[in-house]
Amino acid sequence: MGFLDRVTEFFNRSDETPAVRPGRNDRCWCGSGKKYKLCHLREDEKKQKSYVSCGKS
Ligand SMILES: [Zn+2]
Repeated sequence: MGFLDRVTEFFNRSDETPAVRPGRNDRCWCGSGKKYKLCHLREDEKKQKSYVSCGKS
């Protein structure tokens, strides 16, 4: 995967996630109707961790 692909992926991902995340017991931002902790919470945390590791390296 080339550099441009990674940059594009980064921006695509950031578009999927709102700036303000809902509470763990609130409905997920994706509109599935599930609680956030049962839906996208883990995915969002993974994304945040990957952003941090990118910034450090
Ligand atoms: Zn969701």
